[in-house]
Amino acid sequence: MVNIWTYFKQFCRPRAVCALCHGPAPADLDLCPDCATTLPANHPACAGCAEPMPADGLVCGRCQATPPRHARIVVPWRYEGVMAHLVRQLKFHDHIASARLLGGLLGRHVMRQPDGALPDVLIPVPLHPARQRVRGFNQATEIARHVARVTGIPLHTGACRRVRATSSQATLDRQARRRNLRNAFVVTAPLPAHVAIIDDVVTTGSTSHELCSTLLRDGAKRVEVWAVARAARAR
Ligand SMILES: [Zn+2]
Ligand SMILES: [Zn+2]
Repeated sequence: MVNIWTYFKQFCRPRAVCALCHGPAPADLDLCPDCATTLPANHPACAGCAEPMPADGLVCGRCQATPPRHARIVVPWRYEGVMAHLVRQLKFHDHIASARLLGGLLGRHVMRQPDGALPDVLIPVPLHPARQRVRGFNQATEIARHVARVTGIPLHTGACRRVRATSSQATLDRQARRRNLRNAFVVTAPLPAHVAIIDDVVTTGSTSHELCSTLLRDGAKRVEVWAVARAARAR
């Protein structure tokens, strides 16, 4: 027998609008199936740092020389094309609705590819308070809210703070970035054993490396890095 209530709910389900083509989209995602196929998958990628690689199963030279401190990295897309557009909409045009889409996509991706137990909490990479005042929000936190919604993992925004206003990373090489970030974060609350750092874009991995080291030093036992997009490294 057809459940009339199920039928009624389907009929009345609110329709969302696709963030890319403005056509109808599933109510809980804001992206239509056609546009979903245009997202640039970050595959193949280095298992250590998610840097794009020419073939599957490779580990980049940097990760071979210095294995990363995180236990796992998940960066499903590349920072290019429509993905770069969506991230820029959020970061530079205050388009907070993009966080719902990006966090929803990341959360779904993680749930489709489980790898052991899920983390106890999600910790967004903190912005320095001065930077956050200017921007008005932290894009990593906004994305993490929706990863939490989709995965059911609690969000822990009070776990750590950024205490050093680091200069722009864009023009620095890897060593200089790491020096620039040293002691940039402090842990401000007890940490559970298993945490996932949430970020929008991974560029060199220096920020997540420093935060990961801080969390491991101050009580976490297993740290994962989950980000939406991987930017190509400057060479
Ligand atoms: Zn669309
Ligand atoms: Zn690597």
